[in-house]
Amino acid sequence: MDYKLTDNQRMYIETVQKFVKNEITPTVMEREATHEFPFDIIKKAWEIGVLNLSIPESVKGYEVDDISAALIIRELSYGDTGISTSAMCNDLANVVIAQHGTEEQKKAFLLPFVEAPIISSFCLTEPGAGSDNLAMTAFIRKRDDGKYILNGEKSFITNASYASQFTVFCKVGKPGSLLMACVVIPYDSIRNGEVVTQPSGAREITLSTGGTVITGKPEDKLGQRLSNTATVKFEDVVIEDNQIIGNRRLGFRYIIEVLDYARPMIAAIGVGLAKRALDLTLDYTKERKQFGQRICDIPVARDMLVNMWKKVELADMALMKAAFKVLEEDEDRGMYASLAKNVAAEAALYCSKEGLHLHGGYGFMSEYEISKLARDAHIIDIYEGTREIQDMIIGRELV
Ligand SMILES: Cc1cc2nc3c(=O)[nH]c(=O)nc-3n(C[C@H](O)[C@H](O)[C@H](O)COP(=O)(O)OP(=O)(O)OC[C@H]3O[C@@H](n4cnc5c(N)ncnc54)[C@H](O)[C@@H]3O)c2cc1C
Repeated sequence: MDYKLTDNQRMYIETVQKFVKNEITPTVMEREATHEFPFDIIKKAWEIGVLNLSIPESVKGYEVDDISAALIIRELSYGDTGISTSAMCNDLANVVIAQHGTEEQKKAFLLPFVEAPIISSFCLTEPGAGSDNLAMTAFIRKRDDGKYILNGEKSFITNASYASQFTVFCKVGKPGSLLMACVVIPYDSIRNGEVVTQPSGAREITLSTGGTVITGKPEDKLGQRLSNTATVKFEDVVIEDNQIIGNRRLGFRYIIEVLDYARPMIAAIGVGLAKRALDLTLDYTKERKQFGQRICDIPVARDMLVNMWKKVELADMALMKAAFKVLEEDEDRGMYASLAKNVAAEAALYCSKEGLHLHGGYGFMSEYEISKLARDAHIIDIYEGTREIQDMIIGRELV
């Protein structure tokens, strides 16, 4: 493995670091307190070209390589993991179109993201189907006129309240079917439809192409309060053939491919948060004195800082190896993506917890950013497959 970054990759790191310093850090704690969705920051990220990393050059996208994408997400996450979750969700929803869509579908469903700062949702999880995706019951059924109708409900969907397009995984024929498809509810049918937004933030979208999409009241979350999460309900949504991505029987295979791409990105979110927790704690413990010395000079505290540093560095190595494996399309990339996700989630949880502890009572105060990081870190161990599910994937590969 060659650890040397290209000039372009260095440029991405510097650009995002500057962006975080100027656009995210100054207001992040204020926005956190009000739980306000930072669409203005997402728009600025689009303007500087660090959104929609997976869109192919054939439709004027950046087609950023997997290592650069991981670096961009890592640096953005150093600023705020809610914002980076929302930003990378566009790729989560769009990469399947880039990988399996026809040229016509790429143009129809990806070009709008190149032309305007809009966001998308990836709809997989359901109330009764979390870790066990195959238990999903949302389904498409063919009508007499040859068109399909989509019905079902998805839960915990990132960006749902603001999404201009939805990528949806569903069963084919009936809820209990073994076949799974991936369908797109496109920007055009939402833009030309009618959107009614309730004071609670819930939306009812009557699509110009037929059917309704209802997004629930935004969830009130423990952490990552700057990302948006809501339920999405599909009622008799008309799906034409050209809205089905790839083979309408191979949806489950596509999910695995999307998650192989996306898990290193979640690992990048974990590394960014862990590094932020370490840096905040270093700053604090160099400043604060007790028993006549800096906290960071007390041997026990120094050991804790060293352990935090080790976690960050090991997680970063695991992230880079996974991104490299995905880039090379290696056979065993899935297990490295899972390893990186677990190691980075552990680093984020460890560094935010120990960092909070080293802040003493101040760490427990919401005005100290370390307390926010301790709340944000939990979800990294859960979304896109919990720790146990990653271990299941690694175990299956091993034996
Ligand atoms: C903030 C947030 C954003 C999200 N964004 C999205 C999104 O954009 N799109 C989307 O589709 N989903 C999204 N999710 C859903 C997320 O991926 C799921 O919550 C996650 O996969 C876990 O599913 P679950 O919540 O149903 O937990 P469950 O599957 O019910 O798991 C509960 C517990 O049981 C354990 N468990 C389950 N099965 C096993 C097993 N076989 N062996 C051992 N332990 C097991 C789990 O590890 C976990 O600890 C999001 C969730 C959150 C909270």
